[in-house]
Amino acid sequence: MAKQEFKAESKRLLEMMINSIYTQKEIFLRELISNASDAVDKIYYKALTDDSLVFNKEDYFIKVTADKANRTLTISDTGIGMTKEELENNLGVIAKSGSLAFKKENEAQDGHNIIGQFGVGFYSAFMVADVLTVTSKALGSDVAYKWESEGAEGYTIEPADKVTVGTEIVLKIKPNAEEDNYDEFLEEYRLKAIIKKYSDFIRYPIKMDVKGK
Ligand code: ADP
Ligand code: MG
Repeated sequence: MAKQEFKAESKRLLEMMINSIYTQKEIFLRELISNASDAVDKIYYKALTDDSLVFNKEDYFIKVTADKANRTLTISDTGIGMTKEELENNLGVIAKSGSLAFKKENEAQDGHNIIGQFGVGFYSAFMVADVLTVTSKALGSDVAYKWESEGAEGYTIEPADKVTVGTEIVLKIKPNAEEDNYDEFLEEYRLKAIIKKYSDFIRYPIKMDVKGK
């Protein structure tokens, strides 16, 4: 009999991953900043070889915005962006990705880094958020799209308004639960500490804006 493939049930896989693989919630920010940096790298290298793209150092950055009243944390970048198809293919397939460079880097730091091995970086945001909204405009595209998901149940994609090329990821931060404090991910001192701890080597400026008390 021919060998059968195991079918991973994505819903279960995502729940398992969110609840047990990640031990430190704070690493979601490292994952999102790492993706933003990769996206900026892509547009940066394109600008080097494409004369129609003008390179201005100030145009390339990552921004982290916390809005306490709305309980949102937004990570935006001026990177290469994603088309509708890319939103579907890159964010719609769990544990598909995993850039080799990123894997190696993690292995060097600590051998049992499961996130690096499975390449499920983006979804780690569900550890702290119950809704993720990704609005993106790809380089060379006239239209932008919004991808939205509440986790295991799936996602929606629809046209959106976005003037500039790049990606904006809005995390609706979970309400505090008995043993879990999520408010901390809207605090400037905490966000700064996480960025210092995991993203100090990122070569683009990481700007920050915290609204509300
Ligand atoms: P990995 O970074 O290991 O590929 P992730 O789960 O972190 O895995 O991200 C999945 C994919 O989604 C990335 O490879 C990239 O193609 C796309 N992506 C995620 N965030 C962004 C972003 N900010 N800008 C452009 N593409 C992104
Ligand atoms: Mg990643």
